[in-house]
Amino acid sequence: MADKRDYYEVLGVQKGASDDEIKKAYRQSAKKYHPDLHPGDKDCEEKFKEVNEAYEVLSDSEKRARYDQYGHAGVDPNYGAGAGGGSPFGVDMDFGDIFSSFFGGGFGGRRSANAPQRGSDVEASVTITFEESARGVTKKVSYNSVDACGDCHGTGAQPGSNPKTCTACGGSGRVTINQRTPFGVVQTQRTCDACHGKGKIIDSPCRKCSGSGRVRHAHTVDVSIPAGIKDSQILNVGGHGNAGVNGGPKGDLHVYVNVRKHELFERRGDDVWCDLPLTFAQASLGAEVTVPTLDGKVKYPIHEGTQPGDIFKLKGRGITHLGGRGKGDQYCRVVVEIPKNLSNKQKELIRQFDSTTTEKNYAKRKSFFEKLKAAFTD
Ligand SMILES: [Zn+2]
Ligand SMILES: [Zn+2]
Repeated sequence: MADKRDYYEVLGVQKGASDDEIKKAYRQSAKKYHPDLHPGDKDCEEKFKEVNEAYEVLSDSEKRARYDQYGHAGVDPNYGAGAGGGSPFGVDMDFGDIFSSFFGGGFGGRRSANAPQRGSDVEASVTITFEESARGVTKKVSYNSVDACGDCHGTGAQPGSNPKTCTACGGSGRVTINQRTPFGVVQTQRTCDACHGKGKIIDSPCRKCSGSGRVRHAHTVDVSIPAGIKDSQILNVGGHGNAGVNGGPKGDLHVYVNVRKHELFERRGDDVWCDLPLTFAQASLGAEVTVPTLDGKVKYPIHEGTQPGDIFKLKGRGITHLGGRGKGDQYCRVVVEIPKNLSNKQKELIRQFDSTTTEKNYAKRKSFFEKLKAAFTD
């Protein structure tokens, strides 16, 4: 724990970084270390957790301020055993067996076996369509989490019986040992062997949970996915993780959002791009065409003489900005399709048409041949 990395360093940002910079750095790192991309890679998994932990603190102005002032000890109740002063926030810190390395009762009884501990986080994933990512959607997400056993209400004792307070330690989960040394009597504390630090002894364990007080359940929760979310982003659903211990709060649910590719649309920032195939006649003569957008089909007037590669913009037809107002735009790139499988009659008509064209019909061709001529007569 002592070698925990600085959260700013984890995200690769400066200490004074703006919220946007932090968010951006988080997204990049979260994507880089996404477990889906590195199945079975423990190192990546650890990094991913580290990135999420850093973001959880730095994205919350209150936690960030505490972190800036006190470092890890300011935001993590499990951190900083070596600091020795206890938490400045009145959080019950989990000092674990560090007690046994101190003489006397410097921390006398502050940490008890019954101290509340937050449950760990759980993970789930959901796949949504391109349209859903653009406009937002609520999805049912399934996940498993460990909950307090319903039969024994988390006590671990068979209904009708009660856990007994451990007589060896009086329920504290720790025993004090007096040792006679040349300097006098020295007290040390260690975990109680009789109850393994739990402070309680269960004679008849609950049959449903085998005395653990916890059971694994499948759950489904409605998750509201905000408009503008990108592929591989992670949503944090507070309080849907594993049950805490001794009345501690539940952990969180992390939902990895996968966005399906679209047949027609491509996302660039919050803009949507698509190709628009036109016939030679439509491009030459102009036409009113139907263009697909995220909000349905719209009519668009194509001017005569539209060229392959021309781009036109449909303002405000793009993706809703994440967490903000407004939308990106849609861009359509013209693709002129040259007809194939022509009949003899059609070919004859094109030949007739072609014989009537002049230089003024083909500005690019004219300019190309002029440049070509200039280049080879030097
Ligand atoms: Zn039970
Ligand atoms: Zn005990």
